Amino acid sequence: MVSLPVNWPQRLSLASFPTPFHSLDRLSSALKGPRIWLKRDDLSGFLLSGNKVRKLEFTLFNARQQGYNLLITCGGLQSNHCRATAFAGAQLGIPVHLVLRGLAEGLADANLLLNYLAGARISCVPEQQYRQELDTLLESTAEHYREKGYKPYIIPTGASNGIGVWGYLAACQELKADFQRHNIQPEWIVTATGSGGTQAGLSLGNQVFALSSKVLGMAVCDDEDYFQAKVKSDLKEFSEQFPKAFSFVLPELEVATNDQYVGEGYGLASAAVMQTICDVARQEGVLFDPVYTGKAFHGLLEDIKAGRYRGVGDIVFIHTGGTFGLFPYKQQLVDIMGTG
Ligand SMILES: *Cc1c(COP(=O)(O)O)cnc(C)c1O
Repeated sequence: MVSLPVNWPQRLSLASFPTPFHSLDRLSSALKGPRIWLKRDDLSGFLLSGNKVRKLEFTLFNARQQGYNLLITCGGLQSNHCRATAFAGAQLGIPVHLVLRGLAEGLADANLLLNYLAGARISCVPEQQYRQELDTLLESTAEHYREKGYKPYIIPTGASNGIGVWGYLAACQELKADFQRHNIQPEWIVTATGSGGTQAGLSLGNQVFALSSKVLGMAVCDDEDYFQAKVKSDLKEFSEQFPKAFSFVLPELEVATNDQYVGEGYGLASAAVMQTICDVARQEGVLFDPVYTGKAFHGLLEDIKAGRYRGVGDIVFIHTGGTFGLFPYKQQLVDIMGTG
C-alpha cells in the first residue's frame, strides 16, 4: 500500500478489502477498443456488498463512537444502501429504521425482502410525499425514537456526505496499488453515480493519490448539473469536517459527469441495458444490475463503440455491486433471453 500524509479517521472493518481487480479480456478484444478493467467492489462482501459498505465503515464508526444507538436511513424500495445498512446494523447489534420511497406491491423481493430478514423497521412512503418531505420524515422518525429513549443517527441517501467521501478516498489507495501491480496507467476511472458520494470520493482520491486518471460519473438519474453541485457540496462538507485531512494542499478538482444514458429515469432500464447485462454475464461471467452498474456500463460501451474513447489504452470500471437489485427485473430479463 502506498503511504501518503493522509490523516485517516478511524473506521469499522465491515467488508473484505482490498477487492479484486482484473481485466475483461474477451469483451475488450471483441470491442477492439481500450482494455477494460473491473474493480470488484461487488465482492466487498455478501450482505454488505457493493460501494455503500466503504462509506458505512467510516460513517458507522463515527456513529458508534458518539454513542448513537439506532440508525435511520432512506432510499428507494430496492436501495442497496438500505440493505447494506440493515445488515450492518444487525451485525453490530444496532436497530435500523428505513424510510423507503414508494409503496411495496405484492411479496417483498430482493433487497426489500432482505431488509425484513435483517429485522429492519420499514416505513414505505408514497413517492410524491417522499420527494417533498424527506427531511421532515427523517426528523420525525428520529423524534419518535428519541421519545423512546434512543439516540438515533440519520444517514443521508447513499451515505453520501462529508464523512462518506472517505470511503472512495480509501478505495483510491487500493486502486493505486492495483495499477502498480499491473503496471498500468488508466486514462479513465468510470463509475455509476446516483447520490454522488462514490464519484466525490473517487474524484478527490484520484488527486490525492496522484492516479493521473480522469474520473467519470455515469448518471443513473438526475443530470450533469445535479452531480456537479452534489459532488462539490459533499467535498465542501468533507473539507469543513476534516480540515486537517491532508498535510498538503489540493489542486482544484475536476468533476466529470455523463448524463446521456439515464434513459427513462431512476430504476428504469431499456431493453438495450438488459441485453448488455446478459451479454456481459455470458461473455465474462460478471453480473451487472439494471439500476446502476448495467446502465452505466452499457453507456460506457456505447461511447466506446461511437469512438469517444479512441486512442485510450486502459479504462477502469468500478463494479459498485447491486446484484440483489437484479431480481425484481426477472420479466424484462426473460423477455431478452427468450424462454431458454
Ligand atoms: C448506490 C449505488 C451506486 C451509486 O453510488 P453513489 O455513491 O450513491 O453515487 C452505484 N452502484 C450501486 C450498485 C449502488 O447501490
